[in-house]
Amino acid sequence: MGPSWQHYLIPHSLDEALRLLREAPRPLALIAGGTDLLLDLEQGRHEPVHTLIDVSQVPELRALEVRGDRLFIGAGVTHHEIAQSPLIRRHATALAEASSHVAGPQVRRVATIGGNVAHALPAADGTIALTVLDPIAEVASPQGTRRVAFEDLFAGPGRSTLAEDEILVGFYLPLVEANTASAFARVMRPQTIALPVLNAAAWVRREGDRLADVRLTLGPSGPVPRRLRATEAVLRGQPLTDDVLARAYDQLLQEAHFRTSRLRATKAYRQHLAYVLMERVLRRAFARCAEPQAAAV
Ligand SMILES: Cc1cc2nc3c(=O)[nH]c(=O)nc-3n(C[C@H](O)[C@H](O)[C@H](O)COP(=O)(O)OP(=O)(O)OC[C@H]3O[C@@H](n4cnc5c(N)ncnc54)[C@H](O)[C@@H]3O)c2cc1C
Repeated sequence: MGPSWQHYLIPHSLDEALRLLREAPRPLALIAGGTDLLLDLEQGRHEPVHTLIDVSQVPELRALEVRGDRLFIGAGVTHHEIAQSPLIRRHATALAEASSHVAGPQVRRVATIGGNVAHALPAADGTIALTVLDPIAEVASPQGTRRVAFEDLFAGPGRSTLAEDEILVGFYLPLVEANTASAFARVMRPQTIALPVLNAAAWVRREGDRLADVRLTLGPSGPVPRRLRATEAVLRGQPLTDDVLARAYDQLLQEAHFRTSRLRATKAYRQHLAYVLMERVLRRAFARCAEPQAAAV
């Protein structure tokens, strides 16, 4: 079976991509690595398109650098590049860990963080890691550029809030500060390669033996990626003892909505794993705070 689209366009600048978005024959879609989109088109989960606009050669989306007091990660940066980047390993350790787990080496070399986020699945690994790293997304359209709080990018499972003529340019993350660190972990079914049974990410600020501040998420724990703020509130200001973890877990079971999914796991198994993964990411991030350069993956 041949491709279902008529035009495959490859812009070499953001301006050119935006012009094509305005002018190209519809229906159209952006494509980066194509590792989600091509399967969705082939398997009928995405409506057929007339035009694909390939953003993988747009330099603005390929940037990965410190800008002022923020780390900028372009939407077109691949999971392989993220996993290898000393900047990301230092400032966004959870994301480096998540990207290093995505798929296998071939997929990781083309699959992008922007595609992971724009696909909007509640357990996508890169997306779950970013959720705790406090990113601001930059979104461009023919009308201009806007900044969006990360959690506002998601409308529902597989649905982002991006308009048809919008491109995700990248993410601005705070640089790592003293006594802060992050961690990511996941559990997969043996011999599967796509989404995990459950994953988790945490960012913490440590003061002595206490969690002075914390951000926590698990995926999938609801229709969209989101922080578990009521659980974070139980943990904030507390030492990381078994008793505190037990209270946080009670809260987590009320706040997170775990489902049985046909291909991956039962609700009960996910509830069980939630404690294991919550403890793992909190303890890892907490231990990393004591390391001089916050974190080698
Ligand atoms: C074998 C295999 C294993 C996988 N394993 C994992 C895994 O372990 N963990 C995991 O999380 N995922 C996994 N995935 C899913 C996939 O690889 C990732 O979600 C990947 O990050 C998607 O990026 P992409 O560049 O390929 O996106 P694409 O498929 O090109 O695009 C995905 C969606 O994002 C939109 N899009 C892309 N770029 C932009 C942009 N800049 N602005 C706006 N919209 C945009 C597209 O229009 C499309 O709707 C796997 C996929 C395969 C095929």
